[in-house]
Amino acid sequence: MQIIPKKTASVETHWKKELANTFNDLYELLNFLQIKEKNIPLAYRQRIECLAAESDSENNNIHTFNGKTQNKNTINIQPSQSIINKHNGARKLFPMRVPRPFAALMEKGNWHDPLLQQVIPQNAEFEERVGFVSDPLEEQNGSVEGLIHKYKSRVLIVVKGGCAVNCRYCFRRHFPYQSNQLNKKKYEQILDYIRNDTHINEVILSGGDPLMAKDEHLSWLIHELNQINNIKRIRVHTRLPVVIPSRINDEFISVVSSCSSKLIMVLHINHPNEISDELKSKMDWLKQNNVTLLNQSVLLAGINNNANVLSELSEALFATNILPYYLHLLDPVKGASHFDVNKNDARQIMSELYNTLPGFLVPKLVQELPNRKSKTPIDLGLE
Ligand code: SF4
Repeated sequence: MQIIPKKTASVETHWKKELANTFNDLYELLNFLQIKEKNIPLAYRQRIECLAAESDSENNNIHTFNGKTQNKNTINIQPSQSIINKHNGARKLFPMRVPRPFAALMEKGNWHDPLLQQVIPQNAEFEERVGFVSDPLEEQNGSVEGLIHKYKSRVLIVVKGGCAVNCRYCFRRHFPYQSNQLNKKKYEQILDYIRNDTHINEVILSGGDPLMAKDEHLSWLIHELNQINNIKRIRVHTRLPVVIPSRINDEFISVVSSCSSKLIMVLHINHPNEISDELKSKMDWLKQNNVTLLNQSVLLAGINNNANVLSELSEALFATNILPYYLHLLDPVKGASHFDVNKNDARQIMSELYNTLPGFLVPKLVQELPNRKSKTPIDLGLE
C-alpha cells in the first residue's frame, strides 16, 4: 500500500476560503438575508435572544439585528438556566454552519425560505419525541472503525467527519466523528476488510461529507480501491458541491479522471432553489468526465412536502444532468422530529408525482431501517 501523501505546499483554493467563511453566527446570517426582527415568529425571537445571551457570557455586547450591538443586560427576555444549559449542549453538539454561496440562494427578507429553514437551529430541536433517538440507524457499533457494512455487496467509509453545512435534520448529527477519524492504520484495516470480503463490489465514500477531504487524500484512497479486484464501483455521497459549487475544481476533476472503477456521485438536493447556475456548469463538467450523477432528497415538512415542489425539483435535476434516485422518509433522529412527514402524506405526494412526471423522474420513496439488508421501499398502494 502506498502511504497517504503528505500535505503539499498550501495553495488556498477558492472552496477552502468559502469553507473558512461560512456563517456560524445567527445574527450575521439574518442580517445578510435582511430579515427584520418583526418577520421572525415571537417564539424564535426569544430563542435567538437566549442563544445570544448564553453564547457571550464573557462579553456584554452581543450582535443583534441590523448589524448593531446591544448590551445583553438590556435584552427583554432573560433565559432560564435550564434553557441555557439545553441550548449550550445542543449548539456544541451541532452548531449552525451555512456556507455563503448557499445563503446567497435564499430569498432576501423571507424567514420561511426553504433553504434557510433547513439550516437554522429551531426551538423544536429540544423537544423529545418517542422513537426519535441519537443513532436511528444503529450505525455506531461497527466492527471496523470508520467502516459501515450493512449491505452484502456495499460498504461505506466515513472518509471525513463534518460537512460544509449542518442540516438540522441530519441523521448523523450525533455520530461520534471524533472517534471515527481515519489514520493510516485504520485505513489499512478498512482496505484489508474490503479485500477479504469478495462479496463487496461497491464502496461508498461518505461522512460527514467525503469532499471535505483534500484532493490528494481522495486521490490516494481511490487509487487504493482501484487496486482491489472485486470493486466495480465507487460512489461519492456529497452535498458539498450544492452548498459550495467551487469544490468541483481542476484538482478534483483530475481525481475523478484517475478513477478506473465506475464513479457515481450521489448529490443531496432537497429543493429546486438549491440548483444554482454554477452547480449546473459543475455538473456538466463531471458528466463530461464520465461521472454518473444521481440525487437523493429527504422528505421534509415545511421544505419540500409538496408534489409541486418535488416535481419542479425533478425537472430541475434532469435539466442539470442529475437523475432523481431516492426520496427518503426522515430518519427518526433526536432533534429533528419537526421535519417528519407521515407515511400517508408521503404516499399522497408520491401519487401526485406519478400523475405529473414521467416514471424516470419519480424518485423511489424509501425508508432506512436498522438491521435491514437494503433500503425499505414504501408500499404506495397505487392501483
Ligand atoms: S450534508 Fe448530509 S451528512 Fe452533512 S449535515 Fe447535511 S445531511 Fe448531514
